[in-house]
Amino acid sequence: MKLASRVSLIKPSPTLVITAKAAALRAEGRDIVDFGAGEPDFYTPEHIKAAAIQAVESNFTRYTAVGGIDELKDAIIRKLQKDNHLSYRRSEIVVSCGAKHTLFNLAQVLFEEGDEVVIPGPYWVSYPDLVLYTGAQPVIVNTREQDGFKLTPEGLERAITERTRALIINSPSNPTGSAYTREELAALAEVVLRHSMMIISDDIYEKILFDGLDFWNIAAVAPALKDRTIVVNGVSKAYAMTGWRIGYAAGPEAVIAAMGKIQSQSTSNPASISQKAAVEALTGDQQVISEMVKEFQRRRDYIVSVLNSFNGVSCLKPQGAFYVFPNVSTLYGLSCGDRKINDSGAMAEYLLEEAEVAVVPGAAFGDDRYIRISYATSMELIEKGLERIGNALMRLK
Ligand SMILES: *Cc1c(COP(=O)(O)O)cnc(C)c1O
Repeated sequence: MKLASRVSLIKPSPTLVITAKAAALRAEGRDIVDFGAGEPDFYTPEHIKAAAIQAVESNFTRYTAVGGIDELKDAIIRKLQKDNHLSYRRSEIVVSCGAKHTLFNLAQVLFEEGDEVVIPGPYWVSYPDLVLYTGAQPVIVNTREQDGFKLTPEGLERAITERTRALIINSPSNPTGSAYTREELAALAEVVLRHSMMIISDDIYEKILFDGLDFWNIAAVAPALKDRTIVVNGVSKAYAMTGWRIGYAAGPEAVIAAMGKIQSQSTSNPASISQKAAVEALTGDQQVISEMVKEFQRRRDYIVSVLNSFNGVSCLKPQGAFYVFPNVSTLYGLSCGDRKINDSGAMAEYLLEEAEVAVVPGAAFGDDRYIRISYATSMELIEKGLERIGNALMRLK
C-alpha cells in the first residue's frame, strides 16, 4: 500500500508502545508491574464527573463552537490570571482535544520546512515528531544531570541560528521531573529576547510540583515575551482526566485563530461533555489537587531513596511531575545468562521479561543512559516493582 511520504517522518509514541506491550503480557496471564504509564492512577474527582453527567442529562451533546464554549474559555482566562498572572481575551484562547492535540495544531501553524525548533533533552517523546511532521527540524540541546537536566542560557544561545523559530519549555518536565525556577527562566528569557523566536511553554505538570516550590511561566517572568509565548496546558494531569481529552492554548490572536482554522477542518470542537467537566475542574474545589500532589511527593521520596540504594543506579530527586529518571548506564556491558545489557532498550526489555516490570527506555526521550519510571501507581505496586528491579539488577554480572 502506498502511503504519503510524510507518514514515514514520524514513529509511533514509544511510551504508548511500552504500555501496549505490558498489556499484552498481562493478557497472557503474567503479573506485570506497569511503571510505563504516563497518567495519574487516581480517578477523576466526583464533582467533575457529576458536571459531565449533568451535561448529558441536560442534552448538552451537540456541536459547540470549534475552539471551545465561552464558559470554558472564561474559566481558562480566570485560571491563567489567578495562577499565572497572565491576562488574555477570549480570542486568545483555543480549546482542543487534549494538550497533545493543542501542540500538534500549534506546530502545524508555526513551522515548515527550513525551520528549526530548539528542544531541550531529555524531552517528552512527542516534541521531535510533532516538529518533524511539519517538515521542520528539531534541534535537540542535551542538558546535563549536574545542571538538574535544565537548559542553560549558554546552551540555548549556542543552539540558535537564523532558522530558529521557537523553543519548547516543559516545566516540570516529563521525563526528568525537573522544574525551572523564576531566576532560571529570567536568564533564558534574556537570550530569547535577543532573537526573533517564539516560546512554546508546555505547562501540563504545573500543579504537580513538590516541596512547596512555586510554578512560573516564562511570559509572567519576562512580560516582554508574552506576545511571543504560547502557553499550553490542560486538565489531564492536574485533575486525573486523561481520557476526557481537553487541552488548551493561550497566545497571540493570529496564532490562536490559525489553530482554530485547522481545527475547523479536522476535529471540530472537543467533546461538549468534556468541556463542561473541564469548566467544573477549573472552577470547582481545588483541594483534590493538593491531596494527589501530597501522595505523589510521598511516592517520589520513597522511590528515589530505594533507587539510590541499588548498586550502579543513581537518581536525581525530581521537583515535579510523576516520573523518576535514574541513570543506569554504569550497568551497561553486564549480562544475565546470554542476555547482554548494552543500552536502555535492552535494559527495559530485560526488566520487562525477567522482572516483569515495565519501564520506558531513556533513548525514547533522547538519552540512552537512563530509564523512565512512572510512579503514578499505588505504593504497594511501587514496593513490589522496585523489589523486582533490585533483584534483577543484582543478577547482572
Ligand atoms: C501528558 C502530556 C501531554 C499531553 O496531555 P493531554 O492528555 O494530551 O492533554 C503534553 N505534554 C506532556 C509533557 C505530557 O506529559
